[in-house]
Amino acid sequence: MSTYYIKTFGCQMNHSDSERMASFLEKLHLEPTSKINEADLVIFNTCGVRQMAENRIYGQVRNLKRNKSEVKIILTGCISQRKDVQRRMKDKIDLFFSINDFSKFENWLNENLKFKISPQKDNALSGENISYLSINPKYSNKYQAYVPIMTGCNNFCSYCVVPHARGREVSRPSEEVLAEIRELVKKGYKQITLLGQNVNSYKSPSDAMSFSELLRKVNDLKGDFWIQFVSSHPKDMSDELIEALTSLSKVCENVHLPVQAGDDEVLKNMNRRYTQKHYLGLIEKIKKGFEKNKPEKIYSITSDIIVGFPGETVSQLEESASVMKKCEFDMVFFGQFSPRPETVAWDMKDDVSDEEKVRREKYLNEILKKTSHKNNKKYVGGVFDVIIEREKSGFYFGKTRTLKNVKVAIPANCHPELDSGSRDIIGTIQKVKITKANVWSLFGELV
Ligand code: SF4
Repeated sequence: MSTYYIKTFGCQMNHSDSERMASFLEKLHLEPTSKINEADLVIFNTCGVRQMAENRIYGQVRNLKRNKSEVKIILTGCISQRKDVQRRMKDKIDLFFSINDFSKFENWLNENLKFKISPQKDNALSGENISYLSINPKYSNKYQAYVPIMTGCNNFCSYCVVPHARGREVSRPSEEVLAEIRELVKKGYKQITLLGQNVNSYKSPSDAMSFSELLRKVNDLKGDFWIQFVSSHPKDMSDELIEALTSLSKVCENVHLPVQAGDDEVLKNMNRRYTQKHYLGLIEKIKKGFEKNKPEKIYSITSDIIVGFPGETVSQLEESASVMKKCEFDMVFFGQFSPRPETVAWDMKDDVSDEEKVRREKYLNEILKKTSHKNNKKYVGGVFDVIIEREKSGFYFGKTRTLKNVKVAIPANCHPELDSGSRDIIGTIQKVKITKANVWSLFGELV
């Protein structure tokens, strides 16, 4: 039997796509292997957000071919359809494959790779126009699941490869999303993350359900589970959505709202289509929403910021700093601008040096450290639900509903079931009393 290995780079959407590919390959009776060098088929599910990540992929492909020349290699994901990548890798890659062409995957495997595979009989996966999103994934985790509700993007932010790589927005029918989540909850999944490049513009093709309506429907499903979602675009964050996400009981008290830059001119050059004022207004509404609808809960707000976008001056960077201070983010995922082929920003002058980008990120990170630590201190003395993710060296590690990392001590006399080893709490939600707040994490004890 032929074996496969999928190497995934990049965001949760790519990881979720890989789960669907794995399930599909196993329907064709390919077997997974944990050793990339032993696989007959290796799929690189790529990310094109940064040149460094791209270079790592080239290096790994070269090594693989050197170690086992007969291995078949497929390149999919964000860089797989780029002409320059295809030219550069044409001798090493057997198939460049767009995730949107998933319905043709089986034929490609058969015809191009000459594998001995068993044709799949699942009608749901046959046909030219079937979205790969309707494939049942092979979930890589037993209690946390990523459920894509849409793919693609219509926004064309000037630095971003996603609309080029994934195409325009396609939403999944609401009944398909709800059926997948219902099954997951039945199996005991505790954390469901709804995924999409811009979930705020979700619109079910079957019944025109909006994202806020979908959130309400998911919230109404029976069971004890948490709902999270990424990612949101500030231009599509409606009042109706803010009301839903700050009031629904199963929706966690974390909002990830990428600002990308604080300066209006930089935002315009990024083609983000909102201003600093609009963004700050949204954060204000979200904070007020939580305070009105869930006054007893602590909430968190996280964001993404790019430093060193073409033409960004030091005073424009100060606008990003100012937004960070006003919003008091709990976490920011920084990106140093990296020009990507096929995007509008590729043709802009990348005039902020690498050293300066590092300096700008460090500068903003110092602001983040302060707000994150200040926010973390609010947890001390309180008892919070924590989903336990792993155990190491006598501690459990998990996350709160607000996505705070928590290190949990297990006092000898506190949890007799644990000490006797009769109960495994990985993947369960536990009450944890927070005793200490660090800059990036919390420390607590099971109660
Ligand atoms: S909203 Fe902008 S940054 Fe996000 S995926 Fe779409 S184009 Fe990329």
